[in-house]
Amino acid sequence: FYRQRGGGVEIANAPVLDGETAELPPRDRLKGCGLRLFGADGLEYLDAVSGTFNLSLGYNHPAVVRGVRAQLERIVHISSHFSGEVVETVKRKLLAHAPPGIDAVWLRDVTGSTAVEGAIKFAQKYTGKTDVISLFHSHHGQTAYTTAISGNAFRRANQPDATSSHSIKVPAPYCHRCFFGAEYPGCGLPCVSRIQDFIDYASSGRVAAVIVEPVQGNGGNIVPPHGYFDELRALCDRNGMLLILDEVQTGIGRTGHMYASETFGIRPDLVVIAKGLGGIGIPVAAILMRSPLLVLDGHEHSFTSGANLVALAAAEATLDTITAPGFLENVRRKSILLRRCLESIGRDSQIVSDVRGVGFMWGLEVVDAARRPSSEVTERIIEVALRKHRLILRNARYGRGNVLKVRPALVATEADLIEITQRLREAIAEVED
Ligand code: PMP
Repeated sequence: FYRQRGGGVEIANAPVLDGETAELPPRDRLKGCGLRLFGADGLEYLDAVSGTFNLSLGYNHPAVVRGVRAQLERIVHISSHFSGEVVETVKRKLLAHAPPGIDAVWLRDVTGSTAVEGAIKFAQKYTGKTDVISLFHSHHGQTAYTTAISGNAFRRANQPDATSSHSIKVPAPYCHRCFFGAEYPGCGLPCVSRIQDFIDYASSGRVAAVIVEPVQGNGGNIVPPHGYFDELRALCDRNGMLLILDEVQTGIGRTGHMYASETFGIRPDLVVIAKGLGGIGIPVAAILMRSPLLVLDGHEHSFTSGANLVALAAAEATLDTITAPGFLENVRRKSILLRRCLESIGRDSQIVSDVRGVGFMWGLEVVDAARRPSSEVTERIIEVALRKHRLILRNARYGRGNVLKVRPALVATEADLIEITQRLREAIAEVED
């Protein structure tokens, strides 16, 4: 997000307004606390996007810092081929809150991308099939394979090996700009029913799995309509395909429940989590699944820094904090305020065409004066917000690049949420004028 240049920092690809460059102190010289960053110059920035949506507990949450520090002083790492108490504890704590039917955890990944690849390896080996269905607008990572199955074709353009002849992409449940030109609720959900055509005509007839983000994050905060996941589950069952949920963004409380599968009532076969699991930005990822799917051995999917003990200590402290009585109820309660404030911005602005989201995961779709999707206007809002209002936002660059993302840390107070939305409202109004 921040690209270091000389002593300063600029926002990657953001246009420069009025000859000025958005300024943010070098990131390694910032101090962080909760949703706030403090520069050595005393300036304070409000982070509306939890870093890269991974700081579920904000900057330097004390419980996670304590857990990390204690583990750091004992032992940092030992090969993931050895078991250990913290590994078992994190597995147990993950399973205590897992989606229905999920009773196994694979805990050897460092990043979401490899964990997505792992989930697909499990699905392929278990089913003995090869093909994977994913959605337009999806984003599943930046390795060659996860780029190949992601919906954002422009990402593949400069990486010829990022392709897979076993990847089938189908339209996303993007009601605001429906691929089929249909209108919910009378549409009959062609975004699911037409997948059968892709299975029958575009696949090799050997589809192992469908992978979806419950809310498409980087593709534009796309929230599927009611009924989508029931239909998708039924389609998977009819065709002998597994359902993989990529909860790298939606998991660990982001939607107001531990997993979006709970928020939307989805019955997955495999679930991938990463980002928020490390609480304060410590890298750790996991694959949750039904135990019969646990068909790989440790040598088939593990990484040198996987199951790092410090990372697992962070995961444990994060899980303890988020599953503490009242924490997620509180997130859901605060999310009503966030929703109201953002919807009010949408009503008052001519350049916001849609406001959609759930829990602490929101997107504002931005258009120009002619109501066309506009990444330029979106980038201008992001720059004005940072430069004038010291508010950090991000753009959903994997769709049309015209969706402002708002994803505060789950520890945000109501006052934080009001401040975020006030600063955002002002930035949008300034760009609109
Ligand atoms: N899946 C989703 C939904 C993501 O948003 C991301 C990262 N933005 C990934 C997978 C990849 O995770 P990582 O960057 O940790 O490899």
